[in-house]
Amino acid sequence: MARAERVMPGGVSSPVRAFRAVGGTPLVLRSGAGAEFEDVDGKRYIDFVCSWGPLILGHAHPEILRAITETAARGTSFGAPCEQEIELAEYLTSSYPGLEQVRFVSSGTEATMSAIRVARGATGRDRIIKFSGCYHGHADHLLVAAGSGLVTFGRPSSAGVPEAFIRETIVLPLDDEQRLTDLLRRDGDKIAAVIIEPVPANNGLLLQRPEFLATLRRETARAGTILIFDEVISGFRLARGGAAELFGITPDLATFGKIIGGGLPVGAFGGRRDLMRHLAPLGGVYQAGTLSGNAVAMAAGLAALRTLERENGWRRLDETGRQLEQLLTPVLARAPYSAQLVRAGSLFWMSLQDGAAPRSAEAIDPAAAERYRPLFHALLDGGIALAPSAFEAGFLSLAHTPAHLERLRDALAAAFAASGGAA
Ligand SMILES: *Cc1c(COP(=O)(O)O)cnc(C)c1O
Repeated sequence: MARAERVMPGGVSSPVRAFRAVGGTPLVLRSGAGAEFEDVDGKRYIDFVCSWGPLILGHAHPEILRAITETAARGTSFGAPCEQEIELAEYLTSSYPGLEQVRFVSSGTEATMSAIRVARGATGRDRIIKFSGCYHGHADHLLVAAGSGLVTFGRPSSAGVPEAFIRETIVLPLDDEQRLTDLLRRDGDKIAAVIIEPVPANNGLLLQRPEFLATLRRETARAGTILIFDEVISGFRLARGGAAELFGITPDLATFGKIIGGGLPVGAFGGRRDLMRHLAPLGGVYQAGTLSGNAVAMAAGLAALRTLERENGWRRLDETGRQLEQLLTPVLARAPYSAQLVRAGSLFWMSLQDGAAPRSAEAIDPAAAERYRPLFHALLDGGIALAPSAFEAGFLSLAHTPAHLERLRDALAAAFAASGGAA
């Protein structure tokens, strides 16, 4: 890390990796296999981060490796249409509700940024709504923190984002039908899109009531506002048809990333044909990418999705999540503070605060971060790698076995016992 810090800000290519939220020195990793990775000192860990979601089959899955090497041997990128991208587009559109057409990009950030541009181009409206606690990548107009009190207009959540760039972004709290309905009924004709993670997994795991999502669908349709489901985490994880399938709600546009690249950099956005036809070269909304749809990344994504399907992956992942919940729930009940497991399929989060699991960012107790810090390090010392932040979700893969889950349970019980809990 000392070498890394000399040549990269914070020593990292993405900030959460620097351990600032938990303190200590990040691991530098050397290799991964299945549900485990090894650091450069040769210590092995069970990986409950899975590269933040993409590794749904685990590290170095043979099917993905085969797809990558066989494809790469015939050329990595053409800057022209290739068979692999057509196949992946066919797979995505035949899997996800209402997804008639897609465009490939290289990250989730590009996917959400471009989907919003399409929504604006198609509606001729400028304003968008996002929810506090939802993350949609780092495009300027999405780096907005909620305003205080009754002020709906937010402020930039990052230095370097001009106020003018976020003037058309309104931030609302999750789990509040009234605020949403009032705003859409009053100003809907100015609002191009509402973007939401239907299963918000970037600020804890803020499970939404189906009624809230149903209201969102009904009110956006009524206002002629485009509903964008950001399924960069939930897509192809919670079900083949993502959260849309689970909730039985079809968005107008959806964004994907993470899993659909099989561990390589891929994103995609898509939806109704009449919206996607606004995209160049058919329409006036410009969007492009040199490496978009490159053969190797497309082949890796296809291999991941086909393997998931062949191995009954979505059902098995949910079963693994259920096992984890059964193992951890009694241990969390003995924590020295109020704690519970929040879970959606193979996504999990330990809520370390009093009361019901939070459904909005405003309901999160910042004190949970203090509780998480020593827990994280105790687990890491015990060879268990959770996310280096109290408010990031945990990820399970098909490579996680009952033995891996039991090791997490045992390490957690030991950590609570050592910290004076009644274990
Ligand atoms: C990770 C993520 C993004 C951003 O994707 P990147 O590939 O990191 O740019 C966008 N939306 C959601 C919901 C995400 O989890």
